[in-house]
Amino acid sequence: MGDPSPLVPLAVSPPDRGVLFVVSGPSGVGKSTLIQRALQRIPSIGFSVSATTRAPRPGEVEGVHYRFLDPARFQALVDDDAFLEHATVYDRRYGTLAAPTREALEAGRSLVLDIDAQGSASVRARMPEAVHVVVVPPSLGALEERLRQRGTDDEATIARRMALAAEQLRAAPTYDYVVVNDDVAAADAALQGILLAELSRTDRRSSAIEALLRDLPA
Ligand code: ADP
Ligand code: 5GP
Repeated sequence: MGDPSPLVPLAVSPPDRGVLFVVSGPSGVGKSTLIQRALQRIPSIGFSVSATTRAPRPGEVEGVHYRFLDPARFQALVDDDAFLEHATVYDRRYGTLAAPTREALEAGRSLVLDIDAQGSASVRARMPEAVHVVVVPPSLGALEERLRQRGTDDEATIARRMALAAEQLRAAPTYDYVVVNDDVAAADAALQGILLAELSRTDRRSSAIEALLRDLPA
């Protein structure tokens, strides 16, 4: 996938309130790769750790990549209305916990949610100010190739993921931004550009602007 440029963290001044970024796209399109690089580059944005009933993949760490829960515990959280959104993807349950999300945003910390199209629609309904980004492959063939390359799924799972990819891609027009992950360096720059531009919106910077205006000579 080429050798992207080295990552120098950027000290980005915080917005008035944290921004919620939703990033979706079919499995294997490169979401984790792009999100990981964007968050290394912009350390003031955090990653929202979802809960899931699926088993950890090799290298995945409890509390870092996901909170791995058994189905009964997940259902208990659903019953307690603890999720901002939750959905069933590939027969497994996934969800974003509401309390840590709201706490982060209120503390001025922005978050990236790596969630599917159902989750994006639920978040849009409950938090209309969230920013939605969809990552798409240059072609369906390239997507299949990446799933194989990742080496975490057997052939039957890859076939199922490809069928479900169509569902995710059909929702692409509902997103605010699209990142085509062909050349990873270009996709990387696009995602980081979107995050930085959204953090820089005037309506999210009123405290910085007001402080400057107060200091202007009469
Ligand atoms: P997702 O999080 O969307 O499921 P991953 O980030 O795990 O996808 O990426 C799937 C595979 O594709 C990984 O092996 C990753 O290194 C590779 N990959 C990511 N972006 C590109 C790209 N632009 N070109 C080629 N391979 C890529
Ligand atoms: P994976 O099992 O490959 O990590 O993720 C499978 C799919 O579930 C991806 O499309 C991912 O975006 C989605 N997903 C992960 N966490 C959540 C979540 O909390 N909510 C929803 N709705 N989808 C999620």
